Amino acid sequence: MDDQTINEMVIKCPVCSIEGVAKSIMKEIEIPHFGKVMETTIKCPSCGFKHSDIITLEQNDPAKYILEINKNNLSIRVVRSQSATVIIPEIGIKVEPGPKSEGYVTNVEGVLTRFESAVKKALNLFEDDESQKNGLDVLNHIKELKDGNENATLIMLDPFGQSNIVSDNVEILEIPEDELRELKTGFSYIEDT
Ligand SMILES: [Zn+2]
Repeated sequence: MDDQTINEMVIKCPVCSIEGVAKSIMKEIEIPHFGKVMETTIKCPSCGFKHSDIITLEQNDPAKYILEINKNNLSIRVVRSQSATVIIPEIGIKVEPGPKSEGYVTNVEGVLTRFESAVKKALNLFEDDESQKNGLDVLNHIKELKDGNENATLIMLDPFGQSNIVSDNVEILEIPEDELRELKTGFSYIEDT
């Protein structure tokens, strides 16, 4: 993956409003067998705010991407746009797009790491026994997946076709009308089953 910074500027932080400290960095990322992606990251060292978005330069049809997560697929490139829903049904994880959701370019292992930190955050917020038990259970499964000891399914649904899983092993399906209508653009959360 080749990164090239094409623009960097100092901005007013959208969260703490401090002037002259926060940075907006625009990068062009070339992804083999896919194309170019623009990534914009805003970082504020003053309040710790960090947010990234990606824009893919090609527009595809709405699509559902299905990939088996196994030890051979951990390094497969994943492009997740802000509008994509990401699901691992076997471990009860579903992340839906929302105002705070981020676009990112990573690999399957990186997606798992993101879920891991989201679950850890949730564990700090929800202290009841049930949530703790579920959370720890999910973390366990994520660890086993990252270590290549378990298999599961990674499903990504993007109503705007801006996302992608770059692999010959990926199954790409159309999103049926009724499922397309159900897709959230609201807030994001981690759902326990
Ligand atoms: Zn700030």
